[in-house]
Amino acid sequence: MGRFLIGSTVGGIDAVNQDLKQLKQHLPLLDYLLRSNWTARRVGAQSEFVGLCPFHAESRPSFYVNARKNLFYCHGCGRGGDLIRFIELSQRLSFRQTIAYLQQQIALADPCGVLEKTAAFYQLQLHRHPEATRYLQQRGLHDPSLIEELGIGYAPGGNLHRHLAAQGYSFDRLLKTGLINLRGNDAFCRRVIFPCRQHGRIVNLYGRSIGAAFPHRLLPRSKGGLFAWESVRHRDTVILVEGLFDLAVLWQSGFRHTTSAFGTHPTSAQLDQLCQRRGRSVYIVFDQDENQAGQFASRQLAQHLKSAGVTARIVRLPAGHDPNSYFVAGATAADFSACLQQAHPL
Ligand SMILES: [Zn+2]
Repeated sequence: MGRFLIGSTVGGIDAVNQDLKQLKQHLPLLDYLLRSNWTARRVGAQSEFVGLCPFHAESRPSFYVNARKNLFYCHGCGRGGDLIRFIELSQRLSFRQTIAYLQQQIALADPCGVLEKTAAFYQLQLHRHPEATRYLQQRGLHDPSLIEELGIGYAPGGNLHRHLAAQGYSFDRLLKTGLINLRGNDAFCRRVIFPCRQHGRIVNLYGRSIGAAFPHRLLPRSKGGLFAWESVRHRDTVILVEGLFDLAVLWQSGFRHTTSAFGTHPTSAQLDQLCQRRGRSVYIVFDQDENQAGQFASRQLAQHLKSAGVTARIVRLPAGHDPNSYFVAGATAADFSACLQQAHPL
């Protein structure tokens, strides 16, 4: 990394290295490439991918990416390195410009880190409000390490604005993020909060009402991709559910390859994620609604996936159930596996 240390190192060499490391953690190389429309297929080992080299014309792919090491190498032109090197080469930027560009990309995701601070605050509140832990229990979520891993918190309402104002966040900034309304009241009140992450950074917060208010609420910003996609994206088989409590009970029962689109209508970015790899298998497990809305959405989505080369299966649970209620009613991992096995490809 020595060659990067040019210009001012006011914070010392260690601080610069630390910043670079964080930058690269927030923006994994493979994600960056895929978002720039690079298409790849996996080779041999789990974390290696190959595709056409973006730096020269070629018909046989020789550009390799190791997703675990966050490095690329092209056997055609000999170029290689990390994300910073890639951006330097592809956008013809200097090292300094590249760093500024990456910092800007990250800042766009969460200006001033206000979402991170909010999620951390809500996580603390969870343990101070018995009504919140009671609600999680009711929804079948009882594994403390999973609750911690998903970053689940609780917004009692009425104390976030003061907390963030004391940390120096202006009224305007908080209003812009949608965390408070014009009257200065917290947007989330009596809601269980799930932070939605992309590339390691929080891009939105989902709040599930534990009272009479409308159940679902997201901040007025992009919800990002599929929920917890970083943990799922390398899987050949993916389970897609509607809600985050469906996801939570499935993760808790060992189905860690489960993701959610926050409903039954994935955005085009979420569809791209599901279709990133040909040959992937997607199990769609939406609610079995009486009005057939879930079933209709499942069929539409399955058709779409199939036409993109993805094997789609519609999973049927016992009538009236979604994955969450099924587990709350006493279903086991074996019961759910049996439902998966009964689902045939479209
Ligand atoms: Zn090349």
